[in-house]
Amino acid sequence: MRIAVIGAGVFGSLIARELSKYDVDVTLIEKNLDVGMGVTKANSAIVHAGYDDPPGTVRAKFCVLGNSMYEDLSKELDFEYKKIGSLVVAFDDREVKVLMKLLRQGEENKVEGLRILEREETLAMEPNLNPAVKMSLFAPSAGITEPWMVAIAAVENAMENGAKLILGEGVVGFEKRNGRIVKVVTTRNRYEVDLVINCAGLHADEIAKMAGAEHVDLYPRKGEYILLDKKLGGHVRHVVFPVPTETSKGILVLPTVDGGILLGPTAEDLPSVMKDRPLTTREGLSKVKENAKRLFPRLDLSYVVKTFSGLRPESPRRDFYIGRSKLVGNFINVMATRSPGLTAAPAVAKYVVEEIIQGEIGVSLTRRKDFNPFRKGIVHYASLSLERWQEEIRRDPRAGKIVCFCNEVTEKEVIEAIKRGARTLDGVKFRTRAMFGRCQGNFCMPRIMKILERELGTDMSSLTLKSENSWIVDGKVRE
Ligand SMILES: Cc1cc2nc3c(=O)[nH]c(=O)nc-3n(C[C@H](O)[C@H](O)[C@H](O)COP(=O)(O)OP(=O)(O)OC[C@H]3O[C@@H](n4cnc5c(N)ncnc54)[C@H](O)[C@@H]3O)c2cc1C
Repeated sequence: MRIAVIGAGVFGSLIARELSKYDVDVTLIEKNLDVGMGVTKANSAIVHAGYDDPPGTVRAKFCVLGNSMYEDLSKELDFEYKKIGSLVVAFDDREVKVLMKLLRQGEENKVEGLRILEREETLAMEPNLNPAVKMSLFAPSAGITEPWMVAIAAVENAMENGAKLILGEGVVGFEKRNGRIVKVVTTRNRYEVDLVINCAGLHADEIAKMAGAEHVDLYPRKGEYILLDKKLGGHVRHVVFPVPTETSKGILVLPTVDGGILLGPTAEDLPSVMKDRPLTTREGLSKVKENAKRLFPRLDLSYVVKTFSGLRPESPRRDFYIGRSKLVGNFINVMATRSPGLTAAPAVAKYVVEEIIQGEIGVSLTRRKDFNPFRKGIVHYASLSLERWQEEIRRDPRAGKIVCFCNEVTEKEVIEAIKRGARTLDGVKFRTRAMFGRCQGNFCMPRIMKILERELGTDMSSLTLKSENSWIVDGKVRE
């Protein structure tokens, strides 16, 4: 059985990994030069508890299920996941009523451990919060992670178990026979297939149209963010939400897994022609600052490290659109993957493989006895004990050569990232956190380019930031 998964975001990556548990031929096709660089790269990174999604929706079901899978998944795939809990805070009676609605909704969705906290308990848990807070809803099962690492780790593990990854090839069409897809056509190749799974994020509607399958029209809902320096680490302990609005969970404040603080996102609907244009704006960022200050008035906003934005694949139904096509028998849609898609993705992957492919379509898949669920992440030497680090340096001196001073990343880690598939500066950045710190690569980028040039045996002028045409240097100024 040959299965093509289109799109290596968190959904496609986890589906490819789930499929690699079986004796099938899996090909994951991604138009970007790396995994997890679409919607999955820029979001709030929250593993949501599941009280926010209206009961009965597809997203409510998969959010709670996905949340319950993260702990084990993070251990198997060795990515960072911290179950720090979340608070929705209310400042007046109207907002308290919203908390009660969320509590009821959460209980209906079977979210465990939800509790309403009085002002004093809320402030004891989150001492820097605005003291005007009246009450909060505490969800102990909420957590934070690094979304792109979930995708990268899943693909590494899928490949270890036999899946193939094709990068830099966009799907542009399909060849069909008797109403079924027989070939996936990309910008470079044609792949013979028995089954296609469409996980193309913001572009999944276009892929479904190309296949002649059902779809919902997708448009981007933009969210702008501000990332604050690790120096402020500890100022915020939980994921802290205001009460939600009609369109989003609101502009929130949360710690990142590596100790920074993230503020955002806004929620702005854009026309579908803007699907690839995640731009930040002065108005959007001002709104983020204003709302963050309402939650944490003493937060020092002069420590900005980076601003960025992400685009949610939204549809008029405001729910995931997942299922087998009735028009094209061997085509499955995983579409409209809005929030809480990151949380839901592990549960959706299991559902697609077990209930759609094996159940509805009736394909009988044989479990591989030699499937290895474990993947080891890249060692961050600076976080080892001094004794162990010295031991590693004795074995390989490159483990002691720090190239990124902000995040203390060594040459050995950069080389390991390249060995695992990084071909661009972003490929190294998102795998190692080099260039991710306070200086955003201003000091270490040239050093990392030199390592990339040497390890890939290429010329510096052909290196790119992320996409095929994002070159960084043009040539030599002097010989
Ligand atoms: C602002 C914002 C905040 C969010 N916050 C959270 C949160 O805190 N918690 C949470 O659970 N969820 C959150 N989400 C939702 C979550 O980020 C998404 O649900 C998830 O990342 C979507 O993953 P995906 O795999 O569907 O899409 P993507 O990551 O975009 O993957 C799709 C891939 O398909 C590729 N592709 C597209 N077209 C083609 C083609 N023709 N050929 C080949 N490849 C193609 C793309 O390059 C891309 O890599 C948020 C989203 C946003 C934007």
